[in-house]
Amino acid sequence: MKPSKSKNIKAFLLLGPAGSGKGTQAKLLCKKFGLEYIGSGDVLRARQKTKDFTGSKLTGVMNRGELAPSFVIVKILGDQLEKLKKQKKNKGFVLDGWTRIIYEAILADEALEWYEWAKNAKIILVKISKKESLNRLTKRKQCKKCGRLIPWLGEFKKLKVCDKCGGEFIIRRDDKIIAIEKRLQEYKKETVPTLNYYRKKRRLIEINGEQSIEDVFKDILKALN
Ligand SMILES: [Zn+2]
Repeated sequence: MKPSKSKNIKAFLLLGPAGSGKGTQAKLLCKKFGLEYIGSGDVLRARQKTKDFTGSKLTGVMNRGELAPSFVIVKILGDQLEKLKKQKKNKGFVLDGWTRIIYEAILADEALEWYEWAKNAKIILVKISKKESLNRLTKRKQCKKCGRLIPWLGEFKKLKVCDKCGGEFIIRRDDKIIAIEKRLQEYKKETVPTLNYYRKKRRLIEINGEQSIEDVFKDILKALN
């Protein structure tokens, strides 16, 4: 099987704190350009099911809300990229949530270099403040009638009743605030140096994430041109 040509491949790496909506943007990019979505969460969950030593251990680590070790992350990422390399009609991919700490960023760079996609890679940061992140994660509304969860962002914040069924809202105070704060602290400690690593190389595309989903996506497309 002939591997796909490197130069036509689109490669995106999405970064951003919890609640930034980077996953949504990653999926929009996939839809727009026909790319493969490679989310670390999905892939790690699939890896757990293998039930070997690492698979079983990962289940405990992830249930406790801890980060999987970098060597595991990078190994799994490498396997994913190898798989993509084999695909004939691969148009590209979006990596979501892989380089949370600086080692991983350095090794992911090496991997992209190895698979000859480094030149294609665009690194996008969906930026929101800590306050906004906390608000979005803890102040979601839920429809009493249909159960729809309304994110605390953009135009959604103005909704008075459910946009799907007209039902009344209840504010869903997430009871996992401590876990969320821990995630945000980890982001500050681990991911911010990673962002600086990309910034120094002038490779970080920074997008204001405190807008509607559509406007964030528009800004991303603008920045890519
Ligand atoms: Zn509803």
